[in-house]
Amino acid sequence: MKDGILKAVSTDGSIRAVIATSTHLVAYARQKHQLSFTATASLGRALTAGLLLAPLITRQGQVALKFQGNGPLGKVFVDASPEGIVRGYVENPQVELPLNAIGNFDVGAAVGKTGYLHVTIDKGFGYPYSSTVELASGEIGEDVNNFLVNSDQTGSIVLVGVHLNSHGVEAAGGLIVQLLPDHTEETICRIENNVSTFGSFTFLMRQGLSLEDILARILDGFTLQIITPVHPVFFRCKCSEERFFEALKVIDKAELVEMAENEGQAEGRCHFCNSYYYVNKDRLLDLASRTT
Ligand SMILES: [Zn+2]
Repeated sequence: MKDGILKAVSTDGSIRAVIATSTHLVAYARQKHQLSFTATASLGRALTAGLLLAPLITRQGQVALKFQGNGPLGKVFVDASPEGIVRGYVENPQVELPLNAIGNFDVGAAVGKTGYLHVTIDKGFGYPYSSTVELASGEIGEDVNNFLVNSDQTGSIVLVGVHLNSHGVEAAGGLIVQLLPDHTEETICRIENNVSTFGSFTFLMRQGLSLEDILARILDGFTLQIITPVHPVFFRCKCSEERFFEALKVIDKAELVEMAENEGQAEGRCHFCNSYYYVNKDRLLDLASRTT
């Protein structure tokens, strides 16, 4: 199944939902960042959460999530646009932890159970704004849920999952169901009951179901109307050689000359996608000669 996202509402006005599959982009992030299994599960959940959250919050611009817990993985950073473009990294990509008591990757221990989730929203106009909530468990999904409950007070259900086998990422995806003002106690019970019958999001993916079918299973009992049909989602970074070169323009002349003479080049690494960029000695000296 190709990675994709779709948005739906229930015709009774009780819920809206965003659902996405992200297997390929999580596999891409794993390879780009050389992620351990634990780091793949952690960043994979965060990338998926970013993709789901962005279209719920804004029509344009981007939403950035920074999970800052006390675990060995360090910071987990993701930014995503409502169009379905996401990128992200973890501070310590090699950290590997034993499976937890229920046989899952121990994302909570890797991220850390104590700390903060910072969410920065840039709607593409005006100033970006941020809000911070305490981490609920470091498991990503519960932390994002905590953020939604704090920000809109209506409550939500967040499922994000990454299933890995010895070859790599087998399935990744998730959904956010937001409760709308017309919801009742029964709305929540029904969804929780549906979720408890299949266990995990990636279990449904591994049955070969389409995105629409997975949504129908999780929201069984609701009549749904698709408001944004399936469209693709990607891991894509904004960095480029040209941007790296532009960034060098703030360095003063003496430092550029020193870099050219001592290193023979300037080297830059993009945290988000682990790409390396180089500017050779001649270009550095040329830039220095045009710098005052
Ligand atoms: Zn990059």
